[in-house]
Amino acid sequence: MPVFDYAPAPESRAIANLKPVYRPFINGEFVDGSGEPLKTINPATEEVLAEVGTASASDVDTAVKAARKAYDKTWSTMGGAERAKYLFRIARLIQERSRELAVLESLDNGKPIKESRDSDVPTAAAHFFYHAGWADKLDYAGYGPDPKPLGVAGQIIPWNFPLLMLAWKIAPALATGNTVVLKPAETTPLTALVFAEICQQAELPPGVVNILPGAGDVGSELVNHADINKIAFTGSTDVGKLIQRQVAGTPKRLTLELGGKAANIVFEDAPLDQAIEGIVNGIFFNQGHVCCAGSRLLVQESIADEVMEKLRARVSTLRLGDPLDKNTDIGAINSAEQLSKIKGLVASGDSEGAQRWTSPCALPDKGFFFAPTVFSEVQQSMKIAREEIFGPVLSVLTFRTPEEAVAKANNTPYGLSAGIWTEKGSRILWMANQLRAGVVWANTFNRFDPAAPFGGYQESGFGREGGRTGLEAYLSV
Ligand code: NAP
Ligand code: MG
Repeated sequence: MPVFDYAPAPESRAIANLKPVYRPFINGEFVDGSGEPLKTINPATEEVLAEVGTASASDVDTAVKAARKAYDKTWSTMGGAERAKYLFRIARLIQERSRELAVLESLDNGKPIKESRDSDVPTAAAHFFYHAGWADKLDYAGYGPDPKPLGVAGQIIPWNFPLLMLAWKIAPALATGNTVVLKPAETTPLTALVFAEICQQAELPPGVVNILPGAGDVGSELVNHADINKIAFTGSTDVGKLIQRQVAGTPKRLTLELGGKAANIVFEDAPLDQAIEGIVNGIFFNQGHVCCAGSRLLVQESIADEVMEKLRARVSTLRLGDPLDKNTDIGAINSAEQLSKIKGLVASGDSEGAQRWTSPCALPDKGFFFAPTVFSEVQQSMKIAREEIFGPVLSVLTFRTPEEAVAKANNTPYGLSAGIWTEKGSRILWMANQLRAGVVWANTFNRFDPAAPFGGYQESGFGREGGRTGLEAYLSV
């Protein structure tokens, strides 16, 4: 199949309004953090984008004190309808500044502009709109009359969806009357600090939201701070376990959203062309830096050859390159560290005997890029079938019966998501009941909606974000 040639169509980076220096946001103001400043880079070019001030232990303490004061004096005593006004205002400001946020996110993270523009930023706004609607209706959420907030929430987020993960954390916390101290990931702090400007624009009372850039030690200080009531963490299973140990024996509440190794299961009666799109979206969306990515394709043996052929043809058309180009499908890997982790796992697939196919796309000279890769003849014992690669790498296994598909899908320590492709409604329902995964998609994949709870089982963590269920994570019920 010939691939169309497209002329470059880059979005202007001027829209991002990049500043040379960004600073922590405490008690409604940008302050010089007393931590060692970090430099955040554009992973597509390796150029430094900006210097970012970071927090020290004493800044963590100042931020928690500001959040406590705001909680006691303004936020928890304000009526829900008043809180809702601020959340609606924030949602509208995210929409107003959406182009700026999208370009900045693509620069800092490496994700294609069409994803930050059409997915990350609008979904972040949607989370604020959705939770604004709950703020004055908490009495009717099913948690009894007048449910109470927890207090000050410490929130720690990863680099794969920087603004969207912030929205998943901050919107429900504020709607339910909590105040927050949030630590963005080291490699992607910029949109969180523009969000801090949005809090100022919305005239959010000082201290309700505090943003502390920095590395893992800042996260750790936050977890250990004595005056925190709740920790919400999204990130790796290893750090999640560490946090669980630190919180054990304290009254702090905890929710963990961790890794995954989802099965995307295709039956022989599936609408194949749609399934191919779903497989591609499942693993190549956001370079595969997605905790719920469909990283294990389970395909029924009778159609395996046909699926592989169609899949290779489709993946060959994906355009890899400049994240700011509106035609780019695959952007940059977020960091050199993540790129080397992906390369290491791919090398293990080679040495353990899986068959590797790599899209014949050219890689840019600079920046961190990895071509879309599909492994076939994968055995369940192989590392690439068990470990989260968190990159554009798909492992394909086959099955013969629905029972075998279930057994293979559930053969993982994780349990975040799964996909089912079949024409048969009864099979979808039967499979969904058997699969141990927090989210099960049928004839689609990677669909997100603020009204739908999201979260995992087993080593994918506990607690839900989104929907009515997600409110519980921030209420004393
Ligand atoms: P990570 O190393 O666990 O980092 C996540 C966040 O925790 C970052 O802000 C990180 O700071 C911070 N951190 C690191 N060490 C810490 C410590 N000891 N105490 C407190 N905070 C600490 O994970 P990652 O490599 O950035 O992200 C990829 C992982 O996140 C994947 O495994 C993925 O599956 C998972 N994830 C899960 C979800 C979900 O909803 N379930 C969503 C997205 C990602 P630094 O940035 O400085 O390292
Ligand atoms: Mg960066």
